Amino acid sequence: MEPEEQARKLLKAKGLRVTGTRLALVSALMRAPEPASLETAHKLCGHFGGDQATVYRNLQALTAAGVLRAVKGVGRREMFELAAHRHGHAHLACTKCGRVECMEMNDLPARPARPAGWSISDVSVTVWGLCPACR
Ligand SMILES: [Zn+2]
Ligand SMILES: [Zn+2]
Repeated sequence: MEPEEQARKLLKAKGLRVTGTRLALVSALMRAPEPASLETAHKLCGHFGGDQATVYRNLQALTAAGVLRAVKGVGRREMFELAAHRHGHAHLACTKCGRVECMEMNDLPARPARPAGWSISDVSVTVWGLCPACR
């Protein structure tokens, strides 16, 4: 199935309105090998995505709807990936250029032991370092 067709199915399954920007964003992130920043997502969408403010609003809406997951990058910058992408993985972030890459981490607990009174909605682990280009 083509990413555009998969993206359309995913948006409909979540009960979301299918727009050109959303189709462009979700299919671009399906093709992306690593989490994308706002700037990267805007670039990946090309002219289908609209302006950067439109891309930003849609990234937020798709994250709130559970289609995308926000990954914290350097300086609390948010990067985005598909929520369905892979479970049980961590992120490697380069402290110099800000690149973020996915990393297998199979023993990541989905439901870690927690203090009384807390409920857990998500688990995220970021490992910091220098990417091959910055070392
Ligand atoms: Zn780097
Ligand atoms: Zn990831």
